[in-house]
Formats: sequence, C-alpha cells, structure tokens
Amino acid sequence: MWMLVPIAFAGKLLSAFQKPLSSLWSSLVPWFFWLRAVLWLAGGKSPQPRARGLLPESRAGAKEGLDQPTIPTSVNYHFTRQCNYKCGFCFHTAKTSFVLPLAEAKRGLRLLQEAGMEKINFSGGEPFIHDRGEYLGKLVRFCKEELGLPSVSIVSNGSLIRERWFQNYGEYLDILAISCDSFDEQVNVLIGRGQGKKNHVENLQKLRTWCRDYRVAFKINSVINRFNVDEDMREQIKALNPVRWKVFQCLLIEGENSGEDALREAQRFVISDEEFEGFLDRHKEVSCLVPESNQKMRDSYLILDEYMRFLNCQNGRKDPSKSILDVGVEEAIKFSGFDEKMFLKRGGKYVWSKADLKLDW
Ligand code: SF4
Repeated sequence: MWMLVPIAFAGKLLSAFQKPLSSLWSSLVPWFFWLRAVLWLAGGKSPQPRARGLLPESRAGAKEGLDQPTIPTSVNYHFTRQCNYKCGFCFHTAKTSFVLPLAEAKRGLRLLQEAGMEKINFSGGEPFIHDRGEYLGKLVRFCKEELGLPSVSIVSNGSLIRERWFQNYGEYLDILAISCDSFDEQVNVLIGRGQGKKNHVENLQKLRTWCRDYRVAFKINSVINRFNVDEDMREQIKALNPVRWKVFQCLLIEGENSGEDALREAQRFVISDEEFEGFLDRHKEVSCLVPESNQKMRDSYLILDEYMRFLNCQNGRKDPSKSILDVGVEEAIKFSGFDEKMFLKRGGKYVWSKADLKLDW
C-alpha cells in the first residue's frame, strides 16, 4: 500500500506544474503535510507531549523510564515543627525549632517550581505559629504571584488564624484545610486537640465563614483513632460543606509517635483496618469524603522538612535526603521514597486550583 504514496505524490506534482508558478506553492503545501503524516504513521511514531501541562497522568511525577527524573508535581512543605496543640498521635512532632530564613525558603520553592511543581501545601507543626502567620502569608503570596503555581494550600489546626490574615493573603490561597477529629469537645480534649478555653468546633465554624467571605476553598482533615472511631459526623460535615473531607487512619511513624526517641506514643490511638472501614461505611453518603488508609498514606506524599530535605517513609520512619538547597531537586528526590502510582491511586491529582473548582461562594 505504501507504494501508492510516491505515485500519488508524483501525479499531483505533475499536475501542479501545469498551473502558473504563483499557485504552485499553494497546491503543494497540503500535499507536503499529507505526505509527512503518512510517513509518520508508517514509522509508527506519534508526536510526544513535551510541555509539562501536556504530560499524561501516568508520567506526571513518574519514575517510569530508567532515566526519567521524578517530577515533584505536588509537594508538602512542613516548614516548622512547632505547634500549640499536643495531639497524642501527632506524626510530625516538635523535634527542632528551626525555620529557614524567608529568602532561602523562596529559593527552594523556586527550585521546585523549575523542576515541575504545580501544587504546594504548607504544613507543620502549625504553620500559623511562626511570625504570627506573616512568614506563611509571604510564602503563599510568593508561590501564587511570582511562581504562578496553579495550587497553593495550607493544612492548619485553625486556632491561630485571624481575619486580618485572610484580608492580606486570602486572594493568593486556593485551599485551606483545617484539622478536626471530633465534633465533641470532650473528645478533642482527650485527643490533645485543644488549648484551654478555646473551643475547636466553634473556631471551625468561624473559619468556614471566613473562607466563604474571602473566597478560599475550605477542606477538613480528620484522623480516625480509638477516641473518635464510633462517632457519627455526617450531619456536621454536610452542614460545613467542605470541598473535600480527608479521612486518615491513625498512622504510627517510628521516631515521631512510636519508639524510644519519639516525642509521642500513639499506640493507644491505633485502630484496625476493619474499624477504619466501619467508620467509612457509616459515612459513605458524604460525597466529599476522601479516605486514606495507612497503606495509601505511606510513600504517596512528597514531604519536605524544615531544612527542605525529602522525608522517606518507606521503612516506617522518616529518613531525610540531603537538602534541595545543597544538592538540587533532582538529586534529593531520588531518596524521597515517593510512590507515584500510590499518589495517583489515592487521588493525589485532583482539581486543586480555586479558579477551576467553580465554587458557589
Ligand atoms: S495540630 Fe497537627 S502538628 Fe499540632 S500536635 Fe496536632 S497533629 Fe501535631
């Protein structure tokens, strides 16, 4: 069949020469494109997407080919370990009080953006504790305004956020996730999620309102553990109407909440897989629920610590790489233990820009 291609092309060439020279080029142009397409197909080739945004999902953040560097599509930067709460199962504890100078943190974020980062999540510890949220606000604005990241988000316990912060920085933030493990204040106190007279649940309602007023997508994170596993949260979650309700199974990490050198002992919070399934089953009518079992959680997050080192959780503890500030992203990420397949399986890539969420504020 491929023999017909040059014959047809030669015939067209002859007929084209019978026309005036001025129309010669316009006659031939479609045929050149047709011939190029046919030869391409014959060779079994197809154009390869190069731009980052055109990468198919299976390639984004992948280690597919031997030489393919992992792309840090979505990164969680735990820039501080300090926190005002004392949750008994905390798995990122206050082992240091170090926070990078702002200029260094920005340099690292730029390196990540150049390596393909599309989403940054700021976490802790409690990210609003350092410099009363100003440090965090400046990073949020930098990531949106100067790096142009599609998604900038924060995970916080919510207790230190003031309305002024939304006024100054709300426009640069896509998603605010607030941790809430129970709507029973007594249970929150048992867990360690509380501060004297402050009511965690009342605070959650206030933050929900500010998110609506300042157009920030509102998300809730809950850790299911021994003290809340029998709770029914359907009505309260539906009333708060978050864009996503992330439901985690309490996880043990050696050196953080388990083992000799850990600051927490979380064994008494742990629940079985069956108990976790029971909680999910009771809440299955809540459409925004996104479950995360221990198996899904491990290795499916790119975690950067306060020194901008990737933390590898493959061995049940957090083993740090070298800092991206010293060796670059490509070198450090090799030691991250990141499992991109699990990242995609747990729905790690979702609509994460508030512009695309089409929210009815
Ligand atoms: S609020 Fe978060 S960082 Fe703070 S103690 Fe609780 S789990 Fe840990």
